[in-house]
Parts: sequence; C-alpha cells; structure tokens
Amino acid sequence: MADIIKLLPDHVANQIAAGEVVQRPASVVKELLENAIDAGSTTIKLIVKDGGKALIQVVDNGIGMSETDARLSFERHATSKISSAQDLFNLQTKGFRGEALASIAAIAHVDMQTRTESKEVGTQLKIEGSKIVFQDVVATPIGTSISVKNLFFNIPARRNFLKSNQVELRHITDEFHRVALVHPNIEFHFYNNGSEIFNLPKSKHRQRIAHIFGSKMESRLVPVNEETEVVKISGFICKPEFAKKSRGEQFFFANNRFIKSPYLHHAVVAAFEGLIKQDMYPGYFLYLDVDPASIDINIHPTKTEVKFDDENTLYAILRSTIKHSLGQFNVAPVLDFDHDPNLDTPYAYKEKGATLPKVTVDPTFNPFQNTSTGRSSGGSFQKKSSKGWEGLYEGLESDVDIEAFSSVAIESEGEVQGTFYSDTDLEEHLATTFQLRRKYVVSTVKSGMLVIHQNRAHERILFEKFLGEITVKEGVSQQLLFPLELNFSKQELVILKEIKDSLTNIGFAFESLEEETVKVTGVPLVVPESGIGTVLDRLIADYQDGFTDGSLSQAEVLAKVLSKNLAVRTGESLDQESQQALVNNLFACKEPNLSPFQKLTYTIISEGDIDKKFS
Ligand code: ADP
Ligand code: MG
Repeated sequence: MADIIKLLPDHVANQIAAGEVVQRPASVVKELLENAIDAGSTTIKLIVKDGGKALIQVVDNGIGMSETDARLSFERHATSKISSAQDLFNLQTKGFRGEALASIAAIAHVDMQTRTESKEVGTQLKIEGSKIVFQDVVATPIGTSISVKNLFFNIPARRNFLKSNQVELRHITDEFHRVALVHPNIEFHFYNNGSEIFNLPKSKHRQRIAHIFGSKMESRLVPVNEETEVVKISGFICKPEFAKKSRGEQFFFANNRFIKSPYLHHAVVAAFEGLIKQDMYPGYFLYLDVDPASIDINIHPTKTEVKFDDENTLYAILRSTIKHSLGQFNVAPVLDFDHDPNLDTPYAYKEKGATLPKVTVDPTFNPFQNTSTGRSSGGSFQKKSSKGWEGLYEGLESDVDIEAFSSVAIESEGEVQGTFYSDTDLEEHLATTFQLRRKYVVSTVKSGMLVIHQNRAHERILFEKFLGEITVKEGVSQQLLFPLELNFSKQELVILKEIKDSLTNIGFAFESLEEETVKVTGVPLVVPESGIGTVLDRLIADYQDGFTDGSLSQAEVLAKVLSKNLAVRTGESLDQESQQALVNNLFACKEPNLSPFQKLTYTIISEGDIDKKFS
C-alpha cells in the first residue's frame, strides 16, 4: 500500500486548533484581555458589538510590538512568554502557548495596530483566515489595539451554533468579571453596542468588587485572610444573609487566574453550614496563592479546572479560615431561619380583620391510622397572619368541582368540632384536605385519593396567573407608602430595563431606571414588602439563566421565574384554607397536571390500587 499520511497545511491546522481555543466570542475576549495584561497595560478597553459576533476589540496601553513581533504573533507557537520547558513551572504570565492569536486569526477578520515606546510610528496588520492581507505603518498610540470581526466567517456551522447576542454578551461579561476581579490595579472600560456598561477605575479589591456588582455589595463583604506554608488566602465572603438562590457570585482565583473547583466550593459551603439554607449559595471572592510548581493549570487551554498537589490540606485550611472570618465578624448567630420573607403576609391580608384561630393539621397525622382512640395531636392554634399566602389565590376562582370530600378526616370530625370550632365553614375545610409531611396535599376524588405536590402545583397556579397578567396587563399593584430604594449593578439595570414592561404589567412600579439606585413605588400583591429586593435579585438572575432557551417568550420566562420564586415551598405548613385553595385553583388551571417546569403536579391513587394493598 502506498504511503498515505500527509502533513496538514498550516491554515487547516490553525483552523482545527482554533476550534479548541475559540469556542465563542467570550473565548476571544478572554485571550485578548489576557494578552493586554501580560503586556503590562494599566488601562484596557473592551469594545463589543452584537454579543461579539460583529466586533470584539481590545485596546491597551501596554508595551506594544515591533513590526517583526507583530507579524510573528500570529504564528502558531509564537510566544514571548516562555523560552524553555522549565519556565512552565514558574509562570508569571497568563499566556504561554502562543496559540491564541494564531487561532483567532484563522477564523475571523483581525485588524491589529501596535506601537512600542521606542518607535514614532506603529504597525498595522490585517489578517483574514490566517492570511496577511494588509500591512502598513500607522500613527497609533503606544500599546496595541486588536479588533476581531466576523468570527467564524469561514466555519458557518460554528457561527450558527452561537446563541443569541444577549447570551453571548453574558458569557463575555463573565470573562470580563473574572479578569477584572484579579486586576483591580488596572483600569477597565467595557462598551457594549456603543454604551459603556462598566467603568472600573484602578482601585483595591473590595472597591473593584463593588464597582462590578453594585455598591450594595460593599457592606456585604467580610474579609478573609490567612497565610500558611501551603497557601495564602485573601479575599472576601458575603455575609450569610445575602446568600442567593442562584449561582453567580462565586469566584476562586489561583495565582491570579480564575479557576473552577467544585471541591473547594464545597469547603466554603461547609464553612457556612448552619448559617444558610441548603439550596442557597454563599457569595465569595477568594484569591489563593500557591507555589506555581504545586499547581497544574496546564490541563487544557480553555478549561478552568486545575489540579493542586495537596487538595485535602487546602480544603481543610480554606474551611477553617472561612469559619474563622464568619466568627470574627460576628455574622454567625443572628439569623432566623424560620422566617421566610416570601411568606410574609400579603397586603390583602394585612387589611383584613382578625379571624378565628384555626387548626393546623399535624403534618405527621395519618388518617389511615385514625381509630376511635383518636388522634394524638388535635392540632395547634395558628395565627392567620403567619402563613397567609392564600391571598395569592385571590381572583382565581375555581369552576372545576372537585368531588365533595368525605372519607379522609371524617372520623375525627366529631371530636375536633367540639373542641376547636365555632365556625361551621371550617369543618368542611378540615374534612376535605390534609397536608402530608408538609409536602403533599391529600384529598379525595371520585376515583380515589388525590395527592398534590404543593410546591409544583402552586408553581403551576402562579405561572398561569402571571402569564395572564403579563400579557393582558392587569396585575394588581400595591402602592408602597414609602418608595423602596434598591441598588443594582449596571448589568442588572440593563436586564431590569429589558423586563420592565412585563414587570409593570404584573404590578411593579419603578420611578426611574437610570441610576444605580432604583426607587420601587409599587409591587404586585403577591410580593411581600420585605422580600422585594430578594425577589428582584432572583428575578434578574433567573431571567438571565432562563433566557438561554430561545424558544420561550419573555412573558413565559418571567412567569416561570416568578412562579418558581414565589410558590409555596416543600416544608411549609399550610392551613386548611390554603390547602383548599391549592386544590381548587390547581384544577382551574389550563394545564393542571404539569408544573411550568414540566414536572408532575399531582397523582391519583385509585381505589383499585388501594384495594389491592388490602387483598
Ligand atoms: P501567548 O499569549 O500564549 O504568548 P498569543 O497568541 O496570545 O500567545 O500571543 C502571541 C504573542 O504576541 C505574545 O507572546 C506576545 O508577545 C504578543 N502579544 C499578543 N498580544 C499582545 C499585546 N496586546 N501587547 C503586546 N504583545 C502582545
Ligand atoms: Mg495570549
């Protein structure tokens, strides 16, 4: 057989390599920013258009390049940063592979202008698909400006694979944060479609964090500092009460590189144990300094995973350091976990007069065990106001008739009646539903036993309610007596503006959305005053995440986010009236059987199934 192996031509090899380095516009941003930092810049500008699809430009005031270097910089494995393999173990720079520019130039139209201090004029180069198509001298400031246009122009499949501009912008912003957070001594400007979305002056770490995430962040930070033989840890954690439902403000940097480490994340979470709820994430900005020889960042050019020599020790040190900080700043013991701001009394109920005390069904009460010996717990008094979330159901009347219920609690009816009730309506409520393990609402229907997942069912109900309100603009708004001032970062403001109309439709009212401080003057009935900030924060975070699925309308995304954040949770105890409302309103929905997240909301265990158990 004839020899068949051939060497790939350079431009093909470059294109293949580019696939590794450049996955999306954000990858280009990362490489260009890192090069600008390696060049010793003190001011860096990032300019982006259409989520980076039309333009990514980075302008720096670093050392620049000579004419020869400018040409060489686009060759593969051309780097000024290492000269021997040994250098790999003591890297001081971000780059070292000499691959980035070659890769980018292989799949885009690149225009570079660069000048060193020693020269009066600089060099301009234009490269398209690895070919230099233009070179000339140019009058340009000291430093380098690289603009990348028409990314993936010669790989349509990759171009089509890109997400919406908004999603790509979000990835770019993430990269920008990661870089800006480790270099507070460098001034950054970030322009998107002509408007400046970040202006970060040279500062200290703490201010840098606040400049990026909004001034409200500053007071939430607790410093972390520890120095051991293995590692030096510095940075900040967020106070536990500001833990969030969504991920996003968790940052580890090892030797000034952003890294991802589920293992170390766990160490932080472990230090917060008992201080935040299970499904909440603490915010943190932690900078680890280790001996460069003890860390392998070399696993993959674009991956952020790392390997530390002694992870277990690192874990232990990190955990105890954070515990120490939490203790030292006295943020540990003051939290009240039973208080869920989402379940504060809705306004509708504040207005109402006091009602009779009611029975809360004992969550461990099992009606099938119920015999003439009676229930061990007759229930306890519960103040109406503490769990008045059934106000959420107002205006959503059921017209579906669930069968009149009889069996579930019938045996206890008699004894409970005399003891607790004077209001005859209530007996009927008690007879119809009960709550199982603060998770399910159980009731009967003709065919058997109805078991409703309270959280998912409520999500469905709220989803349809909000969707209706957003699209027909009839959400009931509660005017706030004293407008609430909330702080948002620039990025959050951009999103807030985007969803403002929908928010207004469901009952939010804002005075102005131009400044970091936003005045909220009205809120939907279902949002408790104490939870407005949290709800808006989550809304923004979830909205960003949810939008990656381009098939959903804005109204749907918002309705989903709202329902997710406002629905009653598993673990909440519901009084009779709430249970009843849940059943009725669920079956008044257009699609009662699935939650907005496509999960089953209820099931019916047929009489036949139950009979079988007894056969
Ligand atoms: P690496 O950063 O791994 O060395 P790159 O392909 O990113 O590889 O860059 C190649 C070389 O081009 C760098 O080593 C550096 O010498 C030069 N270079 C790239 N960007 C800049 C810049 N903004 N300012 C000065 N030199 C640069
Ligand atoms: Mg580089």
